[in-house]
Amino acid sequence: MNTTIVKMLEQHHIKATPMRMLVLEQLMVLNRHVALLELETILYPADRITIYRTLQTFVTNGLAHTVERSGQGMLYALCRDNCNVEVHRHNHPHFFCTKCQLVTCNTDYVIHVEQKNADTKYQLEKLEVSLRGLCPNCAP
Ligand SMILES: [Zn+2]
Ligand SMILES: [Zn+2]
Ligand SMILES: [Zn+2]
Repeated sequence: MNTTIVKMLEQHHIKATPMRMLVLEQLMVLNRHVALLELETILYPADRITIYRTLQTFVTNGLAHTVERSGQGMLYALCRDNCNVEVHRHNHPHFFCTKCQLVTCNTDYVIHVEQKNADTKYQLEKLEVSLRGLCPNCAP
């Protein structure tokens, strides 16, 4: 486990520190989107600012990405699309379970966006699609 974690950090040009290794391990174990507060509880007594900075480093270096949950702030999850320092390549939507509030990266549904107007004055930077419904645990 530790070798994998150190390797993942190195691949993203992040120096392995005990805190970074802990946070990365939790993101791998949980395997879903988590809020800073949740990580804070799990990693207690680690300090919130340190965890926050660690997550920011992961996002900047293409190891993690964020999704905004309305009214509840940012949620973090590991990238699975070979993201790196230069680019985040995401075309996966996020699935929000309306019953248990679970938020997962979803690859069962694929989103395609087509530019229909070649002369568009809008410059697309990021595409965010959210799917809402019942997760496998909540679906009857
Ligand atoms: Zn990414
Ligand atoms: Zn659910
Ligand atoms: Zn995601």
